[in-house]
Amino acid sequence: MATSSILSAVTRRLEGKVAVITGGASGIGACTAKVFAKQGAKVVIADIQDELGHSVVESIGKSNSSYVHCDITNESHVKNVIDQAVATHGKLDIMFNNAGIGGENKPRIVDNGKDNFERVLKINVTGVFLGIKHAARVMIPARSGSIISNASAASGISGVAPHAYTCSKHAVVGLTKNTAVELGQFGIRVNCLSPYAVATPATNEYSGMGDEGFENFVNSIANLKGVTLKPEDVANSALYLASDEAKYVSGHNLFVDGGFTIVNPSFG
Ligand code: NAD
Repeated sequence: MATSSILSAVTRRLEGKVAVITGGASGIGACTAKVFAKQGAKVVIADIQDELGHSVVESIGKSNSSYVHCDITNESHVKNVIDQAVATHGKLDIMFNNAGIGGENKPRIVDNGKDNFERVLKINVTGVFLGIKHAARVMIPARSGSIISNASAASGISGVAPHAYTCSKHAVVGLTKNTAVELGQFGIRVNCLSPYAVATPATNEYSGMGDEGFENFVNSIANLKGVTLKPEDVANSALYLASDEAKYVSGHNLFVDGGFTIVNPSFG
C-alpha cells in the first residue's frame, strides 16, 4: 500500500461508523454522503428522489452506501430507514436530518398561502422531529450517537428568507437544544448546522438565477470575501459534528456563514 493510502486509512474520521442522511440524493446531502463514506462511514441515503438517490450510491459504491425511499413526513418511512440501517450494519452512530425545502419565495406575509406555510413546516420541522425521534429510539439503548440537523443562517437572522422557511429553521434550533438536554444522559449529542447560501438544485429553483448567478449574488452580500461557500464546506462541518473530534459538543448551532449572521442581525 502506498504511504498516502496508509495515512488516509489511519486518519479516516468516521471509520466503522454508520450514518443515515436524509435528503442525500441531492445538493448538500449528496455531498455529505460522499464525504462521510470517504471518511470510512457506511452511509444510508434516505430521500424521495429514487433515481438520484441510486446514482449517488453508484458514485460512492454499494459496499459503503445504500438507498432507501423515505418521505421524512411519513413516520413509518422514517422508522423503516432507521431500522434498515440497524438491521444491515448493526447500529446507528450518526443521523443527519438534512432534507428540507425552501417553499414559495414570497417575501410579503400577506401574499403567503397557508398551504405553503404548512408544507414547509411539515417537511422542515415535522420531518426533523421524526428523524431525531427514531434515531434516538435506537441510540438510547446504545448510549451513544450524534444527531445533526440542517437548519440555516435563517435560524439566526431576519429578513433573508421567506417567513415559513425562517420559522421552520428557528424551530430546528429549538428541537436541537431541547433534545440535546434530554439525550445527554444517554451520551447522545444533538447539534445543528446553519449554512449561509450554497448553490444547489434547491437554490436554483428558488432563485431562478442558476448556480453562477446565485453565487455572484450571495458573494456580493457575503461578509467573508474571496470565498464561495460550497456544499463540501457544509459537509465538512457536518463531518466535524459527526466525528469523535466533537465528542463534547452538544446543543450547538454551528453557523457556516462566514460571519454573515453576526454582522447582519436584521438584514433587509
Ligand atoms: P436540495 O434540494 O439540493 O436537496 C434537498 C433534498 O431533500 C432533495 O434530494 C429532496 O428530494 C429531499 N427532500 C425534500 N423533501 C423530502 C421529503 N419529504 N422526504 C425526504 N427527502 C426530501 O437542497 P439543499 O440546498 O442541498 O438543502 C439541504 C438542506 O440544507 C435543507 O434543509 C436546506 O434548508 C438547508 N440549507 C440549504 C442552504 C442552501 O443555500 N442550499 C442554506 C442553508 C440551509
